Amino acid sequence: MTMIGHLIDGVMREDAARTQNVFNPSTGAASKQVALASVETVEEAIAAAERAFPAWRDTPPAKRAQVMYRFKALLEEHADKICEMIGEEHGKIAHDAAGELQRGIENVEYACGAPELLKGEHSRNVGPGIDSWSEFQPLGVVAGITPFNFPAMVPLWMYPMAIVCGNTFVLKPSERDPSSTLFIAELLQEAGLPNGVINVVNGDKEAVDVLLSDERIKAVSFVGSTPIAEYIYSTANANGKRCQALGGAKNHAIVMPDADMDNAVNQLLGAAFGSSGERCMALSVAVAVGDEAADTLVSKLKEAMKPLKVGGYSDRSNDFGPVITRAHQQKVNGYIDSAEADGAAVVVDGRNPQVEGFEDGFFVGATLIDNVTPEMVSYKEEIFGPVLQVVRANSMEEAMQLINDHEYGNGTCIFTRDGEAARYFSDHIQVGMVGINVPLPVPVSYHSFGGWKRSLFGDLHAYGPDAVRFYTKRKTITQRWPSSGVREGVSFSFPS
Ligand code: NAD
Repeated sequence: MTMIGHLIDGVMREDAARTQNVFNPSTGAASKQVALASVETVEEAIAAAERAFPAWRDTPPAKRAQVMYRFKALLEEHADKICEMIGEEHGKIAHDAAGELQRGIENVEYACGAPELLKGEHSRNVGPGIDSWSEFQPLGVVAGITPFNFPAMVPLWMYPMAIVCGNTFVLKPSERDPSSTLFIAELLQEAGLPNGVINVVNGDKEAVDVLLSDERIKAVSFVGSTPIAEYIYSTANANGKRCQALGGAKNHAIVMPDADMDNAVNQLLGAAFGSSGERCMALSVAVAVGDEAADTLVSKLKEAMKPLKVGGYSDRSNDFGPVITRAHQQKVNGYIDSAEADGAAVVVDGRNPQVEGFEDGFFVGATLIDNVTPEMVSYKEEIFGPVLQVVRANSMEEAMQLINDHEYGNGTCIFTRDGEAARYFSDHIQVGMVGINVPLPVPVSYHSFGGWKRSLFGDLHAYGPDAVRFYTKRKTITQRWPSSGVREGVSFSFPS
């Protein structure tokens, strides 16, 4: 059986304290194993990164960026292989995997701008003959811990920026679909990165806890579920590390009575069921304003969902694939059961679909649930499956209050033709990423990504301009070269 190991100091290794099966969720078969790193293995990765830091820190930003140019070319060259790896272990269909990879590559493109991004700030003559400037210096060894649902893109949110800023990196990917993440890091190595600048350790909590406690790690970027994000953030902070921890979501779309309903339905289908709803920006709740709008929305959604196809990742005619594990399939089904038991109406039932030729795959079909109310567990918690819940509200204010009261605040969207309503919504909604007739308002690479409330612990968002700040320390230098022969007298007053 194939063993997925680690990349440490430029060398692929398979040392494993323990191992875990890696499944093909489309077939349900365990075809590979991943090595789960021991404390010693993680410490070796940190040591390699620490050794590589001084030389990499002193490498000119333009030279660091040149590695990223070559990396981008390699990612494009190997795109089909990467998408196949993502599909096999995650289950997403090839076109969806290609979209994920493209978004990741855009972060590499942004990182290519390192010389510009690291220029700093300069002020001449802040006082007579005195100049002052701020520069952005790397932190040292930084770590990233990433989730299963974007095995290519989310790591690429982190290490290209961290590395062009002059840091060295230890990545701990998801142990559930690690192959594409490891392969992509090998491509970065192939692009000419010195050994030890990027290191990948596969593993679980044991590996993560080393990254959180080892004093050589200066900062931690995390993306995953909220309970783990909170643990990572509080532990990293307690150990004196800078940390950004992005968590889970429950993204609502408000559907106003004046919305173009057919357009809203089309957008909701992709945003709710694409990638089996396993996206932190998936729209999982539609809040229809007014019963008439709700009735129209539900009947149009029901009709539009009929042709949706769930199936194996390799058939491009499928709309979406399986969920990640058998346990997760059961969890998603459990949320549908609980909504039903709580009195909601399961309008389209995706529990236990029959997928010919893939009888043991971890499939959940597209599911639509109407008359969901805020007290229901299935409304409060993140389902992370292909389940769209409809909540009925009497007014836009009531709909917005629901969103503002929810513990998560990652993404949201409003479907309307009314510019005034849209502007009011974007001004007052307590959510970090807002769409106006845009269902998945994922910021492009030159903005930054992050939610509010319990969807993000920390201050700086992921990638884009915030990443330059996260992965560097500001140093401000004030300089005077007195003219020869000029001597200043003693002064005891505050510099002015
Ligand atoms: P997860 O929290 O289970 O795992 C994320 C990472 O944490 C993995 O590398 C895992 O090995 C590690 N981990 C798991 N349990 C741990 C523990 N007890 N101690 C230390 N480390 C631990 O998340 P997941 O299931 O892989 O990913 C799905 C979740 O990620 C969803 O909640 C989704 O909303 C969220 N997500 C958020 C964003 C965002 O940008 N906000 C993006 C993608 C995914």
